[in-house]
Amino acid sequence: MSEGSCLRFETTAVHGDKGYDPLTGAISFPIYQSSTFRHGGLNESTGYDYSRLLNPTSEEVENTVAKLEEAKYGIGFSTGLAAIDAVLRLFKPGDHILISDDLYGGTFRLFREIYSVYGIKHSFIDTTDLDEIVRNINENTKAIFIETPSNPMMKVTDIKAAAEIAKLNNLIVIVDNTFLTPYFQKPLNLGADIVVHSGTKFLGGHNDTLAGFVVTNSDAIKEKIIYYKKATGAVLSPFDSWLILRGIKTLHIRMDKSQDNAIKIAEFLRVHPKVEEVFYVGLPESKGYVISKKQSSGFGAMISFKVKDKADVAEILKNVKVITFAESLGGVETLITYPQTQTHSEVPQEIKDRLGVTDKLLRLSVGIENIEDLIQDLKKALG
Ligand SMILES: *Cc1c(COP(=O)(O)O)cnc(C)c1O
Repeated sequence: MSEGSCLRFETTAVHGDKGYDPLTGAISFPIYQSSTFRHGGLNESTGYDYSRLLNPTSEEVENTVAKLEEAKYGIGFSTGLAAIDAVLRLFKPGDHILISDDLYGGTFRLFREIYSVYGIKHSFIDTTDLDEIVRNINENTKAIFIETPSNPMMKVTDIKAAAEIAKLNNLIVIVDNTFLTPYFQKPLNLGADIVVHSGTKFLGGHNDTLAGFVVTNSDAIKEKIIYYKKATGAVLSPFDSWLILRGIKTLHIRMDKSQDNAIKIAEFLRVHPKVEEVFYVGLPESKGYVISKKQSSGFGAMISFKVKDKADVAEILKNVKVITFAESLGGVETLITYPQTQTHSEVPQEIKDRLGVTDKLLRLSVGIENIEDLIQDLKKALG
């Protein structure tokens, strides 16, 4: 749609980039389930040659995600970690990267177990503390990798302030925007250079597929990331592209409803006698609340909470009926996770202790069910 650039978020989410199949007029963008494309003759191409390089369905979802982030380029990957992996290939041995210490366990593992072997150095720091960022920059530092709100402690980094520090020091700012999605937060507009997504989560929204995206305005970064994808092959398949496109059509509705439910659940938990502390950026007493109000248009639907008695953890996980005990997040179903042994099993205990990821911490990804049913379920499970 040529007028696409001036359309508002919800319209782009529903209509996508092209909006329909130019060839047939199909409203549901077709799944071009083809690995290769016919050439009419020597040096002739429709623009599509081989699906590891470009596929029409993948292209549609990539451009849709780019538009939602108000960015020039979106590049799809088979998973969120494949997207992050491609970004890390921008760096070379000796380079040093600052990383939010509280972050998705798989990203942690990628830095610590995979890229450190190839000489890419890193420091896990509290990126919510701007002085700590400045203190940890050395002559080899090339980038800051920020997850905000962070996983699972919901710490909020001031993206704009971090980006200002980064610019002064020639660092690339990478933001994992999985938790809030572009509906609630657009890091590129706040000064970030690269956004990464696990499309598996809220973008897809239905716990039915895996996907990842890299989003940027930089021509040079885009060229490199596309080249890495072409050279290493972690592409987003046509069918998965279609599932994500379909999920995105309701992104704004799902985010609003999940957030409404999350606020009510956070309020319920915060006064519950068995709960010690609730971590939700939408609570005014939350540390990240003020910065969130400034840089995001919503608080999202991720909540962590600490119970007073660790014996309650097993009880809750056994007794939830509507809420499902499962890893992952961002779907229409409410899930409860135990970060200590699930999402953060790979993070060394001393770091988990420092962050507060203990055997009393549980994480909720709030879905779009009826709020009374969710609260009743938690009430019963908490006993
Ligand atoms: C799940 C997740 C990832 C990894 O994405 P996959 O699609 O599972 O590979 C990265 N970052 C965050 C914040 C996540 O929640």
